Amino acid sequence: MVSCGWDCCWCKSLSGAQCGEYTVMSKLKAAVMVQKTSLKRRQNVKNSPQRKRLCQKQVKEVSPGIVSVKETGYHSFKDLTEIHSIRANLLSWYDKNKRELPWRRMAVTESDLNKRAYAVWVSEIMLQQTQVATVINYYNKWMQRWPTLQALAKATLEEVNEMWSGLGYYSRGRRLHEGAQKVLSEFKGEMPKSAEELQKLLPGVGRYTASAITSICFGQVTGVVDGNAIRVLCRARAIGADSTSPAVTEALWMLANILVDPVRPGDFNQAVMELGATICTPKAPLCSECPVQAHCRAYHQVVKEEEKVSKRLLDNTMLKFSSIPDIEECGGCSLCLPDKESWVSSLGVMNYPRKPAKKPPRTERTLTCVVTRKRNTDDTEEYFLIQRPNFGLLAGMWEFPSILMEAELMEKKQKRIISDRLTELLGSSVTEANLQHLGEVVHIFSHIHQTYHVYSNSLSDTTVETVKQEETEYPSFRWVTKAEFHQSAVSTAMKKVFRLFSHLGVNEKLLNKGDKQERGLGTKEGERKGRKYKAPKDSGRRQLCMESFFGPAVKESL
Ligand code: SF4
Ligand code: ZN
Repeated sequence: MVSCGWDCCWCKSLSGAQCGEYTVMSKLKAAVMVQKTSLKRRQNVKNSPQRKRLCQKQVKEVSPGIVSVKETGYHSFKDLTEIHSIRANLLSWYDKNKRELPWRRMAVTESDLNKRAYAVWVSEIMLQQTQVATVINYYNKWMQRWPTLQALAKATLEEVNEMWSGLGYYSRGRRLHEGAQKVLSEFKGEMPKSAEELQKLLPGVGRYTASAITSICFGQVTGVVDGNAIRVLCRARAIGADSTSPAVTEALWMLANILVDPVRPGDFNQAVMELGATICTPKAPLCSECPVQAHCRAYHQVVKEEEKVSKRLLDNTMLKFSSIPDIEECGGCSLCLPDKESWVSSLGVMNYPRKPAKKPPRTERTLTCVVTRKRNTDDTEEYFLIQRPNFGLLAGMWEFPSILMEAELMEKKQKRIISDRLTELLGSSVTEANLQHLGEVVHIFSHIHQTYHVYSNSLSDTTVETVKQEETEYPSFRWVTKAEFHQSAVSTAMKKVFRLFSHLGVNEKLLNKGDKQERGLGTKEGERKGRKYKAPKDSGRRQLCMESFFGPAVKESL
């Protein structure tokens, strides 16, 4: 038999010895060894009595009170056989179907535990609220630039914000950076090895992230509960109460901790999340392809309901059946759907999970102005950016001068506010007549529906100097070229503002060349193709209709 050399309880259990104190350290050491010889060992221990003992111990440790059906009721697991079956089905499905993702590769191939944990940590933070397809590119660039904790710790916050630009929820990058610095300065570069320590010691690492990192990297036997796992567990166990409530959250963690495979906890957790991301999706779940269909209570409820409907049609005995299906077998508890009437037949398994209605985002309007000047050395166009305060919304990000509007204002008043602000920032008078209204840009943050009223101002005096930094309320400002703008830490909203400015500029040049007819602009044909023009009230210029140009507003997080 292969031994890890630490004489840990896992080795003891494999050799038939009694597993004594199943300590955290021995679990971790065992898990490292398991990763090294995983395949061989998995086959050896798959159905061993030792493994069975370990599972029983795990279930009792996690929650001594919810092992049997009698004690757990409808929303937990029948018995160990059911738990084993779900684990085996999910893991074998995952082995065949998992997506190849860069962080998964790192978790398997990286032998240095700190590097491995760092790689998974970065991925988990990026994946919070952001889709896998978007994250991959950011992740690869990030790891190329900062392949280790040490490299990230040495970076500046400005560089981190630049790299995070466009990913949303900008505080995530800042916390990751702070965390790397903390691991280096306080723990000599050694990542904490248990979920409890990670959650307690590192900024921005919550219960889910800590459990994901330690189960995937160190083999800690702990479940995970993220959005995908919530959906899978709520459907599989027919949990219809508010999934954001503390009672349901605790129940889900308990289920996840019971269900996690003790030999392959990292793979198992990823399998649950992969199932939620690819099969048990929020809309149109693929139940026919699901490896845990046989154990899914939601699926059985739907089948039962369909059978009743067919029987009703066949027997033509409609009155024998209630119009509301008998969907609950639980008898009613705090985890059930609030009431039978809340079951919607057309939703099927999508009746689970349930969330309270979201508060609509608040509406805000902001004035923003793209200020340009020509560099006197080579005539390159430059743009004026100021930095937001290092706290609150989009902390530390760069933006065009922007002012939140307290109320709806007429254009004349808007121009006066902008010109006053620019005069204050630039140290020389900016007149309202020099401001050109370009249009509106709508951007949806996680809780704000933001409309930017976009203006431009071209400074003719190339020698214009901005006022000294201490004279402004902003920590910093700078002039950047177009290329520098795109490399700066600017939000997606500002990129949209810049796109509006750039496209209107290009468009204006084309119109000046008199090729309007050639491009079909302003003609019926052009309008039919969605290139409809409307003239701003003040300038007499033509511009693209915002709706046709930007399409639906994209939601971005803070
Ligand atoms: Fe989700 Fe359907 Fe599988 Fe149940 S059977 S876990 S609802 S995909
Ligand atoms: Zn119930």
